[in-house]
Amino acid sequence: MNRSLVLVVNCGSSSLKLAIVEPESGDRFVEALAERLFTAQAGMTIHFREAGKTVIRLPDADHAQAFEVFAAHLSTEKEMNSRIIAVSHRVVHGGEYFRCPVLVDGDVLQKIDACSGLAPLHNPANLQGIHAAIRHFPELPHVAVFDTAFHQTLPETAYVYAIPYELYEKHQLRRYGFHGTSHNYLMLEAARKLGRPADQLNLLTLHLGNGCSACAIRQGRSVDTTMGLTPLEGLVMGTRSGDLDPGLILHLLEHMDFSPKEVDELLNRRSGLLGLSGLSNDMRTLAQAAQSGNRQARLAIEVFCFRLAKTIAALSVSCSPLDALVFSGGIGENSVQIRQRTLTWLAPLGFAVDEQKNSVHGKDSNGRISPMSTPDVRVIPTDEEVMLARGAASLIAGESP
Ligand code: ADP
Repeated sequence: MNRSLVLVVNCGSSSLKLAIVEPESGDRFVEALAERLFTAQAGMTIHFREAGKTVIRLPDADHAQAFEVFAAHLSTEKEMNSRIIAVSHRVVHGGEYFRCPVLVDGDVLQKIDACSGLAPLHNPANLQGIHAAIRHFPELPHVAVFDTAFHQTLPETAYVYAIPYELYEKHQLRRYGFHGTSHNYLMLEAARKLGRPADQLNLLTLHLGNGCSACAIRQGRSVDTTMGLTPLEGLVMGTRSGDLDPGLILHLLEHMDFSPKEVDELLNRRSGLLGLSGLSNDMRTLAQAAQSGNRQARLAIEVFCFRLAKTIAALSVSCSPLDALVFSGGIGENSVQIRQRTLTWLAPLGFAVDEQKNSVHGKDSNGRISPMSTPDVRVIPTDEEVMLARGAASLIAGESP
């Protein structure tokens, strides 16, 4: 049987990721990635499952031009085109407006635009992707899925900053949280693996990629998370500092002649693993360097694991008794060492690691990497694209997400 397909659109500030996904199975029929947009080196790779890869140079192209090239390649695939029932767009910031996927209309576009002040790099790019896709597929329903939506269940105690309350009331300065689509997927997968309904589970999910965040889930709802007003808060990341004393920012501004733009650049692009190691934002590179005796690479890895362990301990107040701790994202899914070091810090809370299971990422034990007598720790690969496809398909089918 030829099942329905969803075109998934994920627009970054200088990249465009596209996939044609079958929502039920998660199968990909086409995947495309355009990178370094707005530069002379811009290019796109399109991978058709049947016909193989095509690499296209797109000097100085923007999102709309990259989308046009993708759509032109797709137009020759008549049968596949006829099976696409919706376009699903990843949108980074939905503010307090959106708690679930929504059909894109004028009002939704206006609200996404209104959230641009809170995500200046992301929401305008997301809007570009939506406009380009609507131009090419005006007959299809377009659905927006928000990174912040899963965290809209946070209690007020977890989302307010301890600053004058009117800054929240008048200017919506609060914690929102991100990577919600991934944390939501990890919750559903953990429920499947544990054989229990998601709304009866207490979980701690870790999305550890270039950006990193953790989420405390109580009975199926996000109740605390590490990212805040922006994706800069929380854990140590590839190039982002995560938490630090706000006084440090004042010091940079007042005593070291940094401009706000320079502080932004320092904390978002030159800090984290890259800043500490002075070498790379990539965990694989750091692991190799640390093994060859590079002291700063080793320090960066140690700080990453220590901060992660401290955060897990702090979040566990919101989701005890814990049913499972879940590692995911490029680092969480692949790094034996990071999981081992982090769990070693957590030994005072009873956590332990089974070295054999950890060494194969839990692949021979349904994801589980901890001994049976200790808290359940799992490795679960995330899949944000399938969540985007399913979110759109359920909305079109009139099911509640
Ligand atoms: P993104 O957030 O861009 O989707 P990913 O989830 O792909 O990123 O994660 C990228 C990170 O995962 C990089 O730091 C990379 O080095 C790390 N990573 C991937 N494979 C391994 C591995 N085998 N060991 C350690 N780190 C890894």
